[in-house]
Amino acid sequence: MTARALVLHDLEATSAADPTSVSALEASLTTRRWWASQWEEGKQYVAGLIAQDVQDALLEKVGRWPLCRACDEMDPHALYIHPELGGPDPTWVCENSGITVAPLGGLTR
Ligand SMILES: [Zn+2]
Repeated sequence: MTARALVLHDLEATSAADPTSVSALEASLTTRRWWASQWEEGKQYVAGLIAQDVQDALLEKVGRWPLCRACDEMDPHALYIHPELGGPDPTWVCENSGITVAPLGGLTR
């Protein structure tokens, strides 16, 4: 799957796909596509970096995304992309418990 499809899937799976998040995704795609075109080795990081960009944009405008539903901690808290560099093999990890929740593009409701 492409980076766009992976991130869009996770936005949809968490009911967070709306004009705000999709435009954040498109803005990031434009930037990162250029970046990846300059650096062949960077391609493995692009999807994770785009997910982080969308996360940052949503944090400013809407709030934390995606929220963790995987662990026992009841207070709302977010997932983050591991590894922090964005790849290879970007994965959503709970920021509280550190458990691996799903690969990027693999979130479920
Ligand atoms: Zn958690």
